[in-house]
Amino acid sequence: MDGWLLRGARSPSAETLQIYLITVPLPSLISEKDSYVWLVNDSALDNYSAKLTWEALRHRAPLQQWSSYVWFKGAIPRHSFNMWLAQLDRLPTRARLSKWGTNIPTSCCLCNTYIEDREHLFFRCDWSADLWTICLQRMGYSFVGFHTWLAFSDWLSLCDSVAPRLLKHLVASATIYSIWSERNKRYHDNISSSPATIFKLLDRFIRDAILSKRNQK
Ligand SMILES: [Zn+2]
Repeated sequence: MDGWLLRGARSPSAETLQIYLITVPLPSLISEKDSYVWLVNDSALDNYSAKLTWEALRHRAPLQQWSSYVWFKGAIPRHSFNMWLAQLDRLPTRARLSKWGTNIPTSCCLCNTYIEDREHLFFRCDWSADLWTICLQRMGYSFVGFHTWLAFSDWLSLCDSVAPRLLKHLVASATIYSIWSERNKRYHDNISSSPATIFKLLDRFIRDAILSKRNQK
């Protein structure tokens, strides 16, 4: 049989491949045995690598300044994921839900007074502010909280002599996660806890997380 045996192209890229193939000289029957090679970014691989192929194919956005405190070594995955959604302001707060046209009250699930948007829920609400005050004092900071996500983000990006960066990042993402969990427990299950109770759990959790990291070393 002479030439390529190709089925009809079903997509523009398959068509491009076929057009390219017919410009390539046919392999000779008398030359050495056929072989194949995986090429990723012009480098030949001994074996197929899904990781390298994905890295070569995927769209890579510029690294965000906030990625250092959302995705860091030693992070708790569920806390990081929640932090990432909060950073992008994608958590379904009542203010966001109402923008989508859902007919629900917009008042904060923690205080039932102000509009529940990201800034209010995580920083300005009395319940959250109380939790931040205890957490920050426990780490040795003299200020008591944040009013905006920007101020919070600046603090997280800054190196200071009060607390190690890993501790700051762990506590910050755990606190954001705890506030969101408390909000959901009140919203869905009608169960509420005080900031002091949640702080005790947080304190234990962070101690255990740091101890397990030390033991892994
Ligand atoms: Zn509130």
